[in-house]
Amino acid sequence: MAKELRNRKHKSELIALLHAEKFKRRTVSFYRYVKIAEPQKLRDELYEKWTALNAFGRVYLSYEGVNAQMSVPEPNWEAFVKLIYSSPAFKDVPFKFAIEDSGKSFYNLIIIVRDKIVADGIDDPTFDPSNTGAYLNAKEFNEYIEKPGTLVVDMRNHYESEVGRFENAFCPDSDTFKEELPEVIEHLKGQEDKNVLMYCTGGIRCEKASAYFKHKGFKNVFHLQGGIIQYAHEIKEQGLKSKFIGKNFVFDERVGERITDDIIAECHQCGAACDRHVNCRNDDCHLLFIQCEDCEKKMNGCCTPQCMEIAALPVEEQRKLRKGKKKTEKETLAVYKSRLRPNLKDILKNK
Ligand SMILES: [Zn+2]
Ligand SMILES: [Zn+2]
Repeated sequence: MAKELRNRKHKSELIALLHAEKFKRRTVSFYRYVKIAEPQKLRDELYEKWTALNAFGRVYLSYEGVNAQMSVPEPNWEAFVKLIYSSPAFKDVPFKFAIEDSGKSFYNLIIIVRDKIVADGIDDPTFDPSNTGAYLNAKEFNEYIEKPGTLVVDMRNHYESEVGRFENAFCPDSDTFKEELPEVIEHLKGQEDKNVLMYCTGGIRCEKASAYFKHKGFKNVFHLQGGIIQYAHEIKEQGLKSKFIGKNFVFDERVGERITDDIIAECHQCGAACDRHVNCRNDDCHLLFIQCEDCEKKMNGCCTPQCMEIAALPVEEQRKLRKGKKKTEKETLAVYKSRLRPNLKDILKNK
């Protein structure tokens, strides 16, 4: 290939460029389960066209469809929509707009081709993913949630539900969607006749999960149309009471969008009420955890004293420390998982 279809600038440079921009950006997400014959070819085409429109974001393509979180310059918005709708696979795909939008959600464009747009771990050939549950809008969801014997299930990971969730929802302790599906099915076994109400961030996980629940014998499966993002817009527009409390975790630079003023989580270091996710400032650690502003100052944005020591070193020395330490995929996953449930208070006590 003559042209290199990825960016080569450093993160800090890209962020500086983003903040120097003179126009506004719109944060938008969309997904669709649709057959894509040549995802790699489409990926390269989209990368070129979206780069020309100065669009940023994180996009997954696969034979089964598209899942995109993007930031698009306002002046190019119409051209962007026209471009997407001109492709038969994406014609009229519904857009979901961010609730709290600083326009600083992404600073580059990454398009990745994967086996599935959401890794679900399902390899059962008898499973029909098109047999999804029934959609509920915000008003209906609020009504159904009140019905006696209704099961409400959060189909997101534990670090997402930790800062925001529907009242009385079952929030599984999983790190990934793949682990979560069997965990939730196991937990709800024997209640196949009850109403199951499920929700996720933007709706994509529930498309799969609701069909899988039906496949596993659940008879009355409902899912929140457009997820928490759409719900938040609808309750605002229609003046409804939010039964979702706290923050909606999002996978971009903003980390979360506030839905209600309730703070339902606590700082992983001191236990104060806090729902602010940060990444450990030691780049080699980068642990995602909840840290209050006091602890951020005290710990210099790090998760442990070890990370503080490393983060205080000159950048060159930090790089040297990392050299030759390339982890295998399995090791990375193990570390990642153990870190996702950090008992940081205990770690700090033992230092
Ligand atoms: Zn704290
Ligand atoms: Zn750390």
